[in-house]
Amino acid sequence: MKLVDLLSAEFDSQILITDEDLLTKYARDETPGDYYFLPDLVILTKNSDEISRFLEIASRERIPVVPRGGGTSRCGGALAVNGGVILSLEHMHEIKDIDEENLILEIEPGYITGEINKYLKEYNLFYPPDPASIDSCSIGGNVATNAGGPRCLKYGLTRNYVLGIEVILAGGRKEFFGSKTEKNATGYSLRDLIIGSEGTLGVITKIFLKVIPLPPYSATLLAPFDDLKDAAKASFKVLASGLVPSALEFIDEDSVIATLNNTDKKIPFTSKGSFLIVEIEENSKSEVENIFEKIGEKFMEYGASDVFVAEEKYQQDKVWDFRRSISEALDRIGTVIPEDVVVPRSSLPLFVSFVKELGKKYETDIYTFGHIGDGNIHIDIIDNDKWDDAGEALIKEIFEKVRSLGGRISGEHGIGYTKKKYLHYSRSLNEIAFMKRIKKEFDPMNILNPGKIF
Ligand SMILES: Cc1cc2nc3c(=O)[nH]c(=O)nc-3n(C[C@H](O)[C@H](O)[C@H](O)COP(=O)(O)OP(=O)(O)OC[C@H]3O[C@@H](n4cnc5c(N)ncnc54)[C@H](O)[C@@H]3O)c2cc1C
Repeated sequence: MKLVDLLSAEFDSQILITDEDLLTKYARDETPGDYYFLPDLVILTKNSDEISRFLEIASRERIPVVPRGGGTSRCGGALAVNGGVILSLEHMHEIKDIDEENLILEIEPGYITGEINKYLKEYNLFYPPDPASIDSCSIGGNVATNAGGPRCLKYGLTRNYVLGIEVILAGGRKEFFGSKTEKNATGYSLRDLIIGSEGTLGVITKIFLKVIPLPPYSATLLAPFDDLKDAAKASFKVLASGLVPSALEFIDEDSVIATLNNTDKKIPFTSKGSFLIVEIEENSKSEVENIFEKIGEKFMEYGASDVFVAEEKYQQDKVWDFRRSISEALDRIGTVIPEDVVVPRSSLPLFVSFVKELGKKYETDIYTFGHIGDGNIHIDIIDNDKWDDAGEALIKEIFEKVRSLGGRISGEHGIGYTKKKYLHYSRSLNEIAFMKRIKKEFDPMNILNPGKIF
């Protein structure tokens, strides 16, 4: 029986998308380049029982199923590379409960991450992880990729806020992994296996998220440095002195110029150089002031040519808007190959110089920016039309260097489809075999997001 007939017999036609024009929206995610895979069908459901029923059928009939949230993956994670069905969670976007005593938010996976703090503000609460795609990615996608963001320096990654999750497994069984408590020392953490599994082990249908009291005062610092090495040194000195900013970001000079030239975003300097951005969030205004003065002094001592302090919310938003617009600006220059490696943070200046030299060798522009506080660097390589296999050789050189420094080929975006051939740069063959055995245990028919990770 044809897939559409099979599913039409089981489900209300309202939740099935079969029209080719509508399907095209799901043929891409935010992976730049030539990655277009038209799914056979999309299911858009609000109901976890329907998902259970569908996964039971999909297992029986061996239909590939790609769970999808906001579709902002930069590594082809949300693409139906083997055809089949995209299971879109975008309509499953309710907040089920806010438990103000235990500080737990019960939320559905399709909720847009950037909306969470708007909701929590009324309760004086806060959910810290802040991927740059915050206005279009979903919390379910964040859990499935263990998303990070600038604030993870102080507060931790998505994983650190997931207490429990409702998951539907390949055969359709609904499970709850984790707990509604902060502590849990009762056997293997199956919850932690699902977090970061990129839709390959189960479909996340509900999340119990830890939230924290909203830090009432904040400031953002922006400082230009002539030399990225000085900026790095200043950053490490700040962290070593016991000051704990919530974010510590860098933008190399090329990325600053590209963002100025390709967006309408502005910064309060005309001076050139690489930039550091620091976010401070504390419980009192005086604490914030005390910390930004100390950080400002350290920055000046180690070579900043100026330090701009944004205390008003609108000024802070302007700085972060600039930071969040870098990818968009670079996407306007040409097709970007986006890498997001992580290295020990002390290696960052050396690593960035290495990558810039590779740009000269391979005759292309390479932009770097990201999280200097935790060594996670976004490397956006402009795809050179004249290349044949050179792009691949360039990436391999980068990953070889990452390996030699003890880093990993992805700090945030995951492996998905586009990075799977490079997984061995960061995981041993034994580890990969181990992961495959886990996958088989969860999904013996290999229906969940097949063709991803390995
Ligand atoms: C401009 C830009 C900036 C970005 N910045 C960051 C950043 O700062 N930090 C960061 O970590 N990432 C960043 N990303 C990458 C991306 O936004 C994250 O990976 C995000 O977590 C994906 O969420 P999503 O809802 O869009 O998921 P999708 O793209 O829809 O899916 C991503 C993966 O999760 C799986 N998945 C989605 N929902 C579920 C579910 N309910 N159950 C099971 N599996 C599911 C999919 O199968 C897929 O493998 C950025 C992307 C862009 C385009």
